[in-house]
Formats: sequence, structure tokens, C-alpha cells
Amino acid sequence: MRIRDVRARLIELPYPRPFVPSWAPEGAHRSMSAVIVEVETDEGVIGVAGGDMGHDTGPLLLETIRGWIRPRLVGMDLFATGHIANHLRYVAEYVFPRPWVVGVAVWDAVGKACGRPLYKLWGGHAGKVRAYASFGEVRAPEQRAEDALRVVSEGFTGVKLRVHADTVAEDVAQVAAVREAVGPEVAIMVDANQAAARWRYRPDGSRMLWDFDRALTTARELADLGVAWLEEPLPRHDYRALRELTAASPIPIAGGEHNRGIGQLVRMLEDDCFTIYQPDANESEDIAALRDFGAMAAAKHRRVIPHAWATGLGVAGNLQLCAALPNCDWLEYPYDPPVIIPEVFHVMLTEPLLPDSTGLVAVPDRPGLGVELDHAAIEPLTVQRV
Ligand SMILES: [Mg+2]
Repeated sequence: MRIRDVRARLIELPYPRPFVPSWAPEGAHRSMSAVIVEVETDEGVIGVAGGDMGHDTGPLLLETIRGWIRPRLVGMDLFATGHIANHLRYVAEYVFPRPWVVGVAVWDAVGKACGRPLYKLWGGHAGKVRAYASFGEVRAPEQRAEDALRVVSEGFTGVKLRVHADTVAEDVAQVAAVREAVGPEVAIMVDANQAAARWRYRPDGSRMLWDFDRALTTARELADLGVAWLEEPLPRHDYRALRELTAASPIPIAGGEHNRGIGQLVRMLEDDCFTIYQPDANESEDIAALRDFGAMAAAKHRRVIPHAWATGLGVAGNLQLCAALPNCDWLEYPYDPPVIIPEVFHVMLTEPLLPDSTGLVAVPDRPGLGVELDHAAIEPLTVQRV
């Protein structure tokens, strides 16, 4: 079975109200942009996947697919997945750093051609994965306590908060208010979004810089609140400081969502930079290589819990990876009502991926990623295609 075409489109999803992600120095977002990739074979099987969400980077991915990926992949054997991944590695190194969504679409087609969900092809057994509600905004402690209570009442057993205040005390106040509201049983994750230089600015141009001491002090304070992990407390290439922090911290340190390529991931694993590694199937490395990385991390008693701040289609790829990994116990589920909701994020799917009343997301039992594109829904949202 050979690849006949690689297509992609950029869709624009309007938000019900402006949304201010904690990591966005540009301030409020009024919509989300997202790339959808389709890989078509000469036998009519079409693999789909969802990727890049940057207003500025989405068009670059489309141009990369048109100019560099499609010409190389058309005519290739669909099942030569390792060979295809090496082509994407070349692109990642020399053209555009995160073409991996194309590989996820290839694997969706492989699963469909085999008639099996990906996670089953990869030896997974968990038919359901526990989801945590991943918030994106920093809000006042009382508001966040109310938000957390609401998602817990809907079934979620974990919530991830963003911290971006001037002082440790303000950051901790938000987490303490949520702990007080939800009680001891609900998992609370905390994301500092300090990994990228650009995220360390506020919309007014001021800096939001954590150093080692701020990170360790915060980790110690969060330990008293039973926090499940502290995410991206330091720049992503500061391997030595990350290793020292992981060694000193009383709670797990997580990160790696945009450390690209298997080389960086293995380097961090060897250096013991994190307790929890968070590569993303659409953004970090070939999805099959990430499954292998999971086995390496498991051998070192480390967890891999993929980053999945993504559309429903993007979450679908990471969900298959989660279900196949031997050491993954959570699915990141972007959910921050009233903006980040399935009605917006999952609009490209004929059936949204929803957690059940106990906070578990069932892995679709249909072939590949197990989801179907809603062409009628995405057509009017499409702003660019190649
Ligand atoms: Mg994160």
C-alpha cells in the first residue's frame, strides 16, 4: 500500500470569549488555529491527525508539508513507518521543527489498514485512560476553587493549574484554595510554563522569571499541598539545573513537552532531568519512537505522560500513545470552561472524546486513532489548505 497524497488544512476556531493563556505574552486569544493532516493511500485508506495550534506556526507547517514532506512521502510504502519517520527527522532538523503530526496520520492509516486501534497494535491493554482537566488561564484563587469543584463534580479526578504570579505566596494561594475546595483525593498538577524564553514574559513586557531557588521553594510549598507534579519550572535546555531540581524536590518534576527529537529525550533521561517526561505525539518526535522512549523511561522507573494541549484530534493521537505506554497514568485533557470546551476543541470530530462520569476517557475501539473527521463542520472553518 503506497502513499498517494499528503494534504493539510488550517482551521480557525472562534472562542466564545477571549482567552488569556498563562504562557502567552501577546495577551488574549480570540480564536484557536489548528492544522489537520490527511495521508491518503492508493487503496483508498485515509489517515488523519491534528497538530500545530500556533497562529504564526500553522502556516509554516502547511508550507513545509507542501514543499518538503509531500514530495518525499508520495509513492512511499505506508508500512515503512521507520523510513517515513527518518524523512520527518530530516525535515524537523532542517526545515520545520515539529512535523510529527504527519507521522501520526501515517500511523492512523496503518491502523485502519490493519483494522486495529493503534494502542492494540502497540501492545496496550488499557481501554480507558484517566484524564485530568488541564486549565490554561491564571485566575483568582476563589475562582479557581469554584472551577475545580465544578470539573470534579463532572467526574474529573485531577486538575492542572497554571501559576504565573510575582510571588511564591500568590502562586501557592491559588493551589491552596483549590486543595481546600476539592479535598485530599483529587490530584492537583501545577504548570509553571517556564521552559521557553518567550513564555517568560507578560503581555506588558515585564519578565516572569523563575530561577532554581524559586522552583525549589515552590516545589517544597506544593509538597505540603499534596501536589502530584510541578511542570516546566526551568528552561528546557538547562539540563543540569533540572537534574538538580529533580533530585532535591519532594514532589515529581515534569517537563519535556517541546524538547524535540529522541536525542534530547534520551539525553534528559540519562541525565535524570525529570521524574515525568511529557513528549507530545504531534509535536515532539515520531509517535512510534515515543512508545519506545516510554519503554526506556519505564526501565529507569520514570513515567511518560504526554503533553496534549491540543484539539480533540490532537488529543486522539496522544490518547492512543497513552494507552500503549507502560508507564502513563494520566491523559492531559484541555478543559477550561467557558472557553476551552469540547464544543470548541472537538468540533472537527463526528464524536467528541469525552470523559465519563468517573473521569476516564475510553480509547476508541475503531481502527487507527478511532476517530472520524466531521468534514461538514471543518469546511467553513478552513482558512488555508495545501
Ligand atoms: Mg505544560
